[in-house]
Amino acid sequence: MTEKMEIKTGAAQMQNGCYLCSAGNLTHVKEHHFYYEKDDTFRIFNYYFCRNCGFVSVYPQTDSGFLKEFYSTYSDLTDTSEIERTQEVMRYLKGYASVIGLNEKSRIIDVGSGDGHLIHFLSMEGLGMVYGVEPSAPRRDRSGKAYGLSNLYRSLEEVPDNIRFDLLVCAHVIEHVVDPLSFVKKLSSLLNEEGAMYIELPGYLTDRKQFPDMVFSHLSCFSLRSLHEMLNRSGLTVISGEHYTGLSVPVLRVLAKKGRVDAPSASKENVEDLFKSVVEREKMYWEFIRNAAERVSHNSSKGIKTVIWPSGTDTRELLFLTGDKLDKKYVLLVDSDASKHEKKIAGFQINQPDSIKTFCDAESEIVICSAYSNTRESIIDDIRKLYPVLSEKIIVF
Ligand SMILES: [Zn+2]
Repeated sequence: MTEKMEIKTGAAQMQNGCYLCSAGNLTHVKEHHFYYEKDDTFRIFNYYFCRNCGFVSVYPQTDSGFLKEFYSTYSDLTDTSEIERTQEVMRYLKGYASVIGLNEKSRIIDVGSGDGHLIHFLSMEGLGMVYGVEPSAPRRDRSGKAYGLSNLYRSLEEVPDNIRFDLLVCAHVIEHVVDPLSFVKKLSSLLNEEGAMYIELPGYLTDRKQFPDMVFSHLSCFSLRSLHEMLNRSGLTVISGEHYTGLSVPVLRVLAKKGRVDAPSASKENVEDLFKSVVEREKMYWEFIRNAAERVSHNSSKGIKTVIWPSGTDTRELLFLTGDKLDKKYVLLVDSDASKHEKKIAGFQINQPDSIKTFCDAESEIVICSAYSNTRESIIDDIRKLYPVLSEKIIVF
């Protein structure tokens, strides 16, 4: 094993305390290698776990100016899981309507309103006057065209000072924000004195197999306890909080009320157990990447052609580990996503799936390099359907 194949996990301590709860015991849980196309280098980012509140942060942090620019033109269409999620938010909020005191006169704001689905659904239910905040111009345009929505602002700063809300919904936004605590404090200031806030985030720590890429899209990971901590610090009391696994992508969700109200005591989530499971998960993850990297390196040194499919984060980690040891003649990167074709990772071009037909010979292997079982299964299905002769060459680690 080369020196580069050593990955540090669970060792170093971070000098500064936890961003969220100020506790001092931050533990390093992951070294992530982010590939920068621009200068063809891998940059190292470190993930730290707070063993007091369970908040996970990344160092160094992404530049906020860059993110602002990125989200102002972000135009991805709503995917099916987003619609499914929105319907579940509706169901949940209707269940709490009397607790929150929602009626036709209520004022509701959806921060990160996307294509406007939730605003539309809430308006249709007659649950009040609904507003939205959405930084992406293409998404605001689509909200207008599809639903005729007009109460849309580009940023929190644009929301008029004289409007205070009875309910604020913020789903799948906070994990994209560089300074989530200040952001939630700002959200809290938009509520009236009896107002409520619904927050939903991806459930990475307990339900997903892996951390997100915390460099670029999801900049922090919350536990239930750290979410409580953040809301408390923003002048709110959590009245209900849970990991919800009834969706195709599990989520963490809480409902909080402004001020100090009678509510169940703080989350009973055991942060130390969470930490242990994260460390164990990372250990397994790197075992998988190391095994795959060693297989590809070994094949390359023996002149055996190997396909690596797909070309996501896990393949990047694999290529970080193999460094410059691979012979380009013997490795083919493949991805079904056409927008990635012709792009390169560490000197390897990403190819369309069909290219495996001419690349593979009798000896070849196809390494499926993804930590997500759904991704693995759909690639295996594609190979079986499209290239049945090559299906016996599949290797899954
Ligand atoms: Zn903390």
